Amino acid sequence: MRTVVGAHCDAGDFVVIEREGLEELSTVLRADGYKLVGPRVRDGAIVYDEITGAGDLPAGWTDEQDGGMYRLHKRNDDAFFGYAVGPHSWKKFLFPPVVRLLEATRRGSDFEVKRSNDAAPKLAFIGVRACELHAIATQDKVFMGGAFVDPIYAARRRNAFLVAVNCGHPAGTCFCVSMNTGPQATGGFDLALTEIIESLRHYFVVEIGSPAGARVMDQVEHSVVTEAEREAARGVVARAAGMMGRAMDADGIKELLYRNYEHPRWDDVAGRCLTCANCTMVCPTCFCSTVEDVTDLQGEHAERWRKWDSCFTMNFSHVVGGSARHSAKSRYRQWMTHKLATWIDQFGTSGCVGCGRCITWCPVGIDITEEVRAIRESENAGATQREDVSHARS
Ligand code: SF4
Ligand code: SF4
Repeated sequence: MRTVVGAHCDAGDFVVIEREGLEELSTVLRADGYKLVGPRVRDGAIVYDEITGAGDLPAGWTDEQDGGMYRLHKRNDDAFFGYAVGPHSWKKFLFPPVVRLLEATRRGSDFEVKRSNDAAPKLAFIGVRACELHAIATQDKVFMGGAFVDPIYAARRRNAFLVAVNCGHPAGTCFCVSMNTGPQATGGFDLALTEIIESLRHYFVVEIGSPAGARVMDQVEHSVVTEAEREAARGVVARAAGMMGRAMDADGIKELLYRNYEHPRWDDVAGRCLTCANCTMVCPTCFCSTVEDVTDLQGEHAERWRKWDSCFTMNFSHVVGGSARHSAKSRYRQWMTHKLATWIDQFGTSGCVGCGRCITWCPVGIDITEEVRAIRESENAGATQREDVSHARS
């Protein structure tokens, strides 16, 4: 092997580690003070949770996904990353579902108020997909890109080390290619791995994306990449790009949705939508939250908690006199129009990265790509009909 341990790595370099190198990478990250979080099998799904090393990864497992359907199956190899994204996303570590903001304790006739300043953990995310890097970049804009920076998110984000993995196994609900967000990780990572399994060899081509990534790779046994290995890595991504389960025509999508606030399709989808909010919980870019205050029965101690919320709940748009979005139609329309249209005005980018989670985890299989297609096709059909009538008249 062309081992070059000790050779200095730089951002932008490509190197190779063998299968065993993944455990070594984990050891180096742990020695650097990182807690590892990554994919593991739990409750019949591949979820993101704390891991100790490569031994906890879902080696030999893959998933099958469709609208409202997710199943795990065994693979016929021992790929560590041979699955697509599952129900969890990295937002649960950067924007925790439940977090205490402050505590107030009675001191005589006064209150002492203390901001909760839990130190942000130093986390290394193992196995971040290209669409997820885009989702993190999207949430960066939401939480850190404006005049008001969310200190909880910002501290966690600063401490995160991102090990991306280029996709080799997209799900039936993936459509990152049409959203221009995958399957190749193109930036925003410290290291990006491509897993390659050949008949006699299992290895990773590693792209170094940052000085922090270079410092880590300096400590992991690696070899200089050959052109054949680079080509094999390109092949993995090219094959994945050709295996997308779905596609969304995002051309002019903002204007399409703005023109169709009153489209009958919103009634149609409302007849199917349970307003359960699953789609917003699994979505890696959704960021709505609510704040709740709780006290003890003696009135001595109170706490303020931030919790994930959803535009699918009645309470979320509650104003004097009731909910501003009282129908399922208005709530689904709000969600989809925000994702694909108003988000672009608000943050300069789409709120959808094509990960497909909202399709897989919708209990009734509502499919955002299908809803867009239905509106687009009926508009196109209407335009064709109008053209036919005007030709017939002329
Ligand atoms: S679209 Fe599906 S997941 Fe989302 S609220 Fe409606 S039923 Fe639930
Ligand atoms: S809207 Fe659906 S497909 Fe798009 S990023 Fe959210 S969960 Fe993924």
